[in-house]
Amino acid sequence: MIKLQDIDKYVDSRFQRTFVLKGVNLNVEQGEFVTIMGPSGAGKSTLMNIVGMLDEPSAGEYYFFDEPVHKMKEKQKSDMHKNYIGFIFQAYHLIDELTVYENIETPLLYKGVPGAQRKSMVAELLDRFNMVAKKDLFPEQLSGGQQQLVGIARAIVGQPKLLLADEPTGNLHSDQGKQIMEIFKKLNDEGITIIQVTHSEENARFGKRIVRVGDGAIVADEQVTVNV
Ligand code: ATP
Ligand code: MG
Repeated sequence: MIKLQDIDKYVDSRFQRTFVLKGVNLNVEQGEFVTIMGPSGAGKSTLMNIVGMLDEPSAGEYYFFDEPVHKMKEKQKSDMHKNYIGFIFQAYHLIDELTVYENIETPLLYKGVPGAQRKSMVAELLDRFNMVAKKDLFPEQLSGGQQQLVGIARAIVGQPKLLLADEPTGNLHSDQGKQIMEIFKKLNDEGITIIQVTHSEENARFGKRIVRVGDGAIVADEQVTVNV
């Protein structure tokens, strides 16, 4: 599903080139649940943004379902992102002026899904996440954990093939974090491929594979043997 080959990401200043990622090779198959771990500044978010087509590598090749993303124009990439990828952020990134319902509905509007269908798709997720009573509230009226549930609902409402989550539980208490990990595990059982970043070894064990990043490179790649 995902094939990264010799990916570099660097930033040039007048006198020097600074590598954020260097020589990254990573394959992820459909159905995997991968956790990316590593110290702050290692390049995890940069890697996630490249996989999510929100950023581009400086060098190397990226194939998504065998399509060469590194050769695509912006419009093609944003269409791929819209149709196949859901992204969850640490700081939720909900739209403050929109209600819970409207936040979840947004990707469906972008995709041009007809009204009746939108309504049933949003309703299903509100129900799944026990948020029906909150649907007309605004993000600031929700707890952090509830805001992240909205963030997850928005990321999966368009039925993506790939769910990317960059420290989705970073701002949450551990019990809320665990709830979100249980949701991810269920989504993965239902067939969504997941790549998450976390600093929590405990949360990492909800996945099936841990990829460790250090100083812009992959330093370990291990299967999780004992799941929680
Ligand atoms: P954290 O755990 O703190 O979120 P991270 O592993 O996600 O860290 P990145 O955000 O990917 O780390 O950043 C990796 C390194 O690249 C950092 O040293 C950062 O300063 C640098 N970096 C990222 N983007 C840029 C940019 N546009 N210009 C210059 N440096 C950048
Ligand atoms: Mg980061």
